[in-house]
Amino acid sequence: MQVADAIVVGGGPAGSSCAWKLREAGLDVLVLDRAKFPRPKLCAGWVTPEAMSDLELDPNDYPLSLMTFDELHLHWKMLSAKPKSRQHSIRRFEFDEFLLQRAGATVLRHKVREIQRDGGDYIVDDAFRCKYLVGAGGTACPVYRAFFHERNPHNSALQTATYEQEFAYDWKDPACHLWFFDDGLPGYAWYVPKAGGYINVGLGGMAEQLKQQGGNVRDYWGKFVDKLTKRGLVSYDQYNPTGYSYFLRGDVDIVSDRNAYIVGDSVGLATRDMCEGIGPAIKSGLLAARAIATGEEYSLAGINRFSGGGLPSKLLERKFAGAQ
Ligand SMILES: Cc1cc2nc3c(=O)[nH]c(=O)nc-3n(C[C@H](O)[C@H](O)[C@H](O)COP(=O)(O)OP(=O)(O)OC[C@H]3O[C@@H](n4cnc5c(N)ncnc54)[C@H](O)[C@@H]3O)c2cc1C
Repeated sequence: MQVADAIVVGGGPAGSSCAWKLREAGLDVLVLDRAKFPRPKLCAGWVTPEAMSDLELDPNDYPLSLMTFDELHLHWKMLSAKPKSRQHSIRRFEFDEFLLQRAGATVLRHKVREIQRDGGDYIVDDAFRCKYLVGAGGTACPVYRAFFHERNPHNSALQTATYEQEFAYDWKDPACHLWFFDDGLPGYAWYVPKAGGYINVGLGGMAEQLKQQGGNVRDYWGKFVDKLTKRGLVSYDQYNPTGYSYFLRGDVDIVSDRNAYIVGDSVGLATRDMCEGIGPAIKSGLLAARAIATGEEYSLAGINRFSGGGLPSKLLERKFAGAQ
């Protein structure tokens, strides 16, 4: 049996941030992830300056693909606006691998299936033992499922459905575009150029509202890519988009229990207006690590529910999570 002070299940931004600070505090940390890194992660890869600062990363020093936008191009019906809002784009394929390596923890490829309590310890798949267990496994996190789901179920009214693709593309327009509520989509679509000749295009909406409308997020794809072509933004004939679902911030009451902690998408922490999950994932990972290292309470109180930052927050919150 392999023993560590702490096991972190999932090596995305939540898990790697937590592992990084646990290592700094002197703990022996094992990260288990079912994927081999670098791994693809469906995500537009829009990262806020606050998230970079939480990571103690100066964008100028980040050695991989990063672009900075000083304004966003927002579109709603016939209206367009360009609010000042400094944001960055990264490629998750690179970013997550970079953060995980920097964390300095032992990383093993392993899909976690079963977790048991044994006295004050946790035993994972009869192969790993630890005192502290961190669930950073995203929407289907096995730590959440084992110890938190029953008392703290995710709210289906806050579930998003997304559909997107990232690919090599010689883009010409270096702006980040967002289109809201096109054709009744209860969400928005995006065009996010990346440094190094990549682009991410996709759309997302609230899953329950899509269902009530009798459709799903895939129904909007055809019109969206037609629009990209008509606007001269992307002309591409090999689309092969993929879907993924995650939860926005609800009233999550229980995030730690007997040395087990949940962070990032396993809790459902993405913002209620823009569905931004990277920043909250990082913050929660850092807070859980601090709680483990110092014994102070782990609380989500310091993690924003809204992205704000020049974005039409109130309108989006009402539209995205109207059931709340
Ligand atoms: C299409 C799309 C676009 C998005 N765009 C943005 C954006 O532009 N900006 C933004 O801030 N947020 C965005 N988000 C949200 C953001 O991607 C997530 O909130 C963020 O990745 C959460 O990080 P995490 O570390 O909690 O989970 P993840 O990044 O999902 O990492 C979880 C890890 O756990 C591993 N894992 C899962 N199950 C197991 C298991 N049983 N055993 C071992 N390992 C396991 C997975 O392999 C994975 O590596 C987007 C999401 C989607 C789907």
